[in-house]
Amino acid sequence: MTRPKLFVISAPSGCGKTTIAREVLRIHPEIDFSVSATTRPRRNAEIHGKDYFFTTKEEFERYINEDKLVEWQKIYDYYYGTLKEEVRKSLDAGRSIIFDIDVLGALSIKKYFPEETILIFIDVPNHDVLIQRLKSRQTENEETMKKRIARVEIEFTQKNNFDYVVLNDDLQKAVEEVNNIIMQSIN
Ligand code: ADP
Ligand code: 5GP
Repeated sequence: MTRPKLFVISAPSGCGKTTIAREVLRIHPEIDFSVSATTRPRRNAEIHGKDYFFTTKEEFERYINEDKLVEWQKIYDYYYGTLKEEVRKSLDAGRSIIFDIDVLGALSIKKYFPEETILIFIDVPNHDVLIQRLKSRQTENEETMKKRIARVEIEFTQKNNFDYVVLNDDLQKAVEEVNNIIMQSIN
C-alpha cells in the first residue's frame, strides 16, 4: 500500500475548487475530505460536519490557543482552519485526503507535510469568467463580493508555488485532469 497523500485543491474564490473537489470525491470514495472549521455563517445547502464545522469566534480562538489547527487564516472577516484531529484521523487509517482551502493555507499544509502534499491550483480562463461564476453561485451580497474580488489578485501571485495548475474552463476536463494527478500519485 502506498503512503496516504494530501491533495490540496486551491484557488481564489469562484474558480470552481469546491465543485471540482466534490466531483473528484465522488470518483474516489476511498479518499477523505478534510472538513475545515469556520466562523462563517452556514449557507443554505451546507451541512455541519460535512461541508464545515461551523463554530463561534470564541471556540475558534480556543482552537488557536490550544494548538488544535494545522493551519488557519482569517479570510473576509471570518476564521477558516484545518483541524489537526481531522487530518490525523485519516492518516492513521491510511487514507488520503482532499483539502478545499485557500492559497495561503495550501502552502502551510505543504510546509507541515512536505513529503505527502500535492498542491493543485485551479485556474480560470480570465477575470470576467471568475466574476460571472461568483455571481452565478448567488451566495454573496455586494459587500462580500467586493471582499472576495479584492483577495483574488493576491492569491493568483502564488500560482507558481503549486505543483500543478489545472485550467477550469470545461468542468469535466478539469475534473479529469485532477483525477489524473491523483491516480498518478496514489499508484
Ligand atoms: P470556489 O469553491 O473556488 O469558490 P465554486 O466551486 O463554488 O468555486 O464555483 C463557483 C461557481 O462556478 C459555482 O456556481 C459553480 O457551479 C460554477 N462553476 C464551477 N466550475 C465551472 C465551470 N467549469 N464552468 C461553469 N461554471 C462553473
Ligand atoms: P467559502 O466561504 O467560499 O466556503 O470559503 C472561503 C475561502 O476559505 C475559500 O478559498 C476556501 O477554500 C477557504 N477555506 C476553507 N476552509 C479552509 C481552511 O481550513 N483553511 C484555509 N486556509 N482556508 C480555507
